[in-house]
Amino acid sequence: MRSQAMFFQRRSGEALADARLRRNLDGLRDKFVGMRARAVSAYADHGTATVPNPDFEALRDAGAAIRDRVLKDLDVWLELFEHKATQRGARVHWAKDGREICEHVLAIARQHGITKVIKSKSMLSEEAQLNVALTAAGIEPVETDLGEYILQISGNEPPSHILAPAAHKNLDEVADLFAEKHGKPKKTEIPALTREAREVLREHFLSAGMGISGGNFLIADTGSVALVTNEGNGRMVTTLPKVHVVITGIEKIVPTLEDFATLMRLLPRSATGQEISNYVSVCTGTKGEADADGPEHTYFILVDNGRAGLVGSEFQEMLRCIRCGACMNHCPVYQTVGGHAYGWVYPGPMGSVLTSLYTGLENALDLPHAATLCNQCGVVCPVRIPLAELQRKLREKQTERRLRPWTERAALGIWAWVAQRPALYALAAKLGVRYLRWLADGQNYIKVLGLAPGWTAGRDFPAPQEGTFRELYKRRQENRT
Ligand code: SF4
Repeated sequence: MRSQAMFFQRRSGEALADARLRRNLDGLRDKFVGMRARAVSAYADHGTATVPNPDFEALRDAGAAIRDRVLKDLDVWLELFEHKATQRGARVHWAKDGREICEHVLAIARQHGITKVIKSKSMLSEEAQLNVALTAAGIEPVETDLGEYILQISGNEPPSHILAPAAHKNLDEVADLFAEKHGKPKKTEIPALTREAREVLREHFLSAGMGISGGNFLIADTGSVALVTNEGNGRMVTTLPKVHVVITGIEKIVPTLEDFATLMRLLPRSATGQEISNYVSVCTGTKGEADADGPEHTYFILVDNGRAGLVGSEFQEMLRCIRCGACMNHCPVYQTVGGHAYGWVYPGPMGSVLTSLYTGLENALDLPHAATLCNQCGVVCPVRIPLAELQRKLREKQTERRLRPWTERAALGIWAWVAQRPALYALAAKLGVRYLRWLADGQNYIKVLGLAPGWTAGRDFPAPQEGTFRELYKRRQENRT
């Protein structure tokens, strides 16, 4: 984990040099950004009892308020959830970290004599490296989300997007992979490829003893887990095997079904531009006598892994996240380098904040800087997480803890000292502009930035206009009068 998240700069350099990845990312950006924009502008709804006739901005306020209400009394809602889920026949386990997630899952598997597990997408199982632990224990894990399945047969590649885990691959790459791994003639149409994957997965659905899913939301009032998918695999994973294990973070609680309905107006529109996802399942307890299907045993593993420490902190707003992926779809940095550059489970702006908070500031030194602070992420976040502000705070913490290079800290210290002295600042700005124009040597770009050559290692630096901002502004005002 440390070695991966530490090397954003190196990994993003590799991503920039990968022309195929850049083309794949271009397609992804156009798709997700356009779909969200259309869904938001078309939004018209009758609202809910608590949020009547909201426009999309009012809906975002309502979503943020629901999440804040939960986080304020998280322990109370979690206890209520445990009580209600237990009443409906489920068992609730608590996991402090990834190791405890694996221990719980392996203990449940041993108890029920499980040799094969089918999984629908669960970012927590990525946090815990659960597939590695299952395989080491002689249990076969099979990913059933199409994107996760592609990554698994590619040799357990990590996901590069929280909604579309194999977003970095194009159709041709997937077609070659299927032909190689399935030993069948190469298909080039998406329906034919998905049919082939479905045929392979059907065998696993019918023969696995345990299903593992994540959970988009836990509903405290009913002790239920809500799953939102577009492929239907989540429904198979949660109903066909005799054992269903839900692994999810403790922050995923919402108080009531009404609150869940409000958040569901935000989630699909922000994620994929859909009014509603293809499959929305609310699973409660175990199979009853009157039920046609469902698990005989249901377990919830509710995971901390760094979340509890954020409650009440200046980073608590990050726990509002409903994992829609809108921030990464709109982030110019993610759009350019993709998800693998971020080095851990969560990419994009939410990932740069979460990875720093969950794995430690010192283990993700580059990530809070993997942003332009343009705040496009904050503008589209359905629960109004001020991502750019959180990234800025993380940078501040890094500097306070002297985690940044001494040269950077010294430069910032000098800048802060000069900035507090207006006359000196004006003089320094004037000298700076002259120096840059001298470097440009009559061109409108600078090839090598003298004192900071790293800036121009991969691109040119635009030469400044003649004069400082103050001088240009003054001239403009004079021209007007
Ligand atoms: S931070 Fe906001 S925009 Fe990003 S994934 Fe979470 S909810 Fe979505």
